[in-house]
Amino acid sequence: MSSIQEQMRARARELLTRGEVKMVIGWEKGTFWYLSPPAFITEPQDCDRLVWDEFCTNNLAKYLLDYKLAEEKIALFVKGCDARGIVRLLQDNQIDREKVYLIGIKCPGVRDGRQAAALGEERRSEVPLAEKCRYCTHPEPVIYDELLQEDGGAAIREAAGAQEGRFAEVARVEAMSPDERYAFWTGAYDRCLRCYACRNICPACNCRECIFDRSQSGWCGKQMSRSENMFFAITRAMHVAGRCIECGECERVCPEGLPIMALNKKIIKDLNELFGEYEAGVDLEARPPLGQYKLDDPEEFH
Ligand code: SF4
Ligand code: SF4
Ligand code: SF4
Repeated sequence: MSSIQEQMRARARELLTRGEVKMVIGWEKGTFWYLSPPAFITEPQDCDRLVWDEFCTNNLAKYLLDYKLAEEKIALFVKGCDARGIVRLLQDNQIDREKVYLIGIKCPGVRDGRQAAALGEERRSEVPLAEKCRYCTHPEPVIYDELLQEDGGAAIREAAGAQEGRFAEVARVEAMSPDERYAFWTGAYDRCLRCYACRNICPACNCRECIFDRSQSGWCGKQMSRSENMFFAITRAMHVAGRCIECGECERVCPEGLPIMALNKKIIKDLNELFGEYEAGVDLEARPPLGQYKLDDPEEFH
C-alpha cells in the first residue's frame, strides 16, 4: 500500500487535472524541518510539494474562510481536528458544503514543533506528542468525502501512552484559592501581546467583524494593560463557549505560551456539567448548548 503522502499527492493531482477542484489545501515543508505549514496548490505539477509527516499540525479548516466567496470547489485534507473545524464552519454558515471536497486522514497524532526545535533534528524520534493530541477524542475525521487508507505508520499518540487528564489542568486551577487563581491568570495574561494569533488561527473565531478590530466600539481599547488583556481573554473564551472544538491551535500559536486551553476547557467542563455532555464540531446536526434558547426556559433571561 502506498504511503499517505503518495496518496495525497496522487489524489490532489487527479482532482486538479480533471478540473474537479480549483485548489487543494494540504501541508508542505517550508524553512524548518519541524514545521509543515499549509500549502495552497492550484497546479497539478505542484502536487509533489504536499507532505504528510509528524509536523502536519495546522488545522486547515480556517483557511477556507479566505475563499468563502469563491465560485469553484476547493479540496482540503482533514485530520480529526480539521474535520471538526469544518463542522464548526458549516454550523456557523460560514462555508458551503457543496464547495468543499474533504479528503480524510486517520491521524496518528503530531509532534510538538517547539520542542522539536529545541531538541534538534538528530533527536527527531524523541520529540514528544503535541499537547493538543494528548487528549484528542476524535483522531479520525468526523466528516469527509473520501478517506485515505492507512499506511501502517507508527501511531504517535498510542506510543505516547494513556490519553488521560483532559481536564486535569482545569481541576488544578479550580483547586486554587481565589487569590492564587487571580495570580495565575493575571500572571499569564499580563504577558499577552494582543497579537490575536490565537483568534486568527481559530476555526470557531469566524465573525465577519471582530469586536477587537473595532477600536471605536466603546467596549475595549488597544491598550496592553491588565484590565484590557483580561477583557480580551474572557471575551475570546466566551465567544467560543460551546463551540470550541479543542483543536489546541490557539495555545500552540501563542508566542507567549499562555495557558489558553485551560480557559477553553474550564468552559467546556462547566457546560458539560450544566447542560450535559457535548462535544463541539462532532455532529453536524447537534446544536451547541449556548446556540439555542427556549421561550419557556425556566431561567430568567437578562
Ligand atoms: S488533535 Fe487529534 S486529529 Fe488533531 S492532530 Fe492531534 S491526534 Fe490528530
Ligand atoms: S478556541 Fe482554540 S482549541 Fe478552541 S476551536 Fe479555537 S483554536 Fe481550537
Ligand atoms: S496569541 Fe497569546 S499573546 Fe497573542 S493575543 Fe492570543 S493570548 Fe495574547
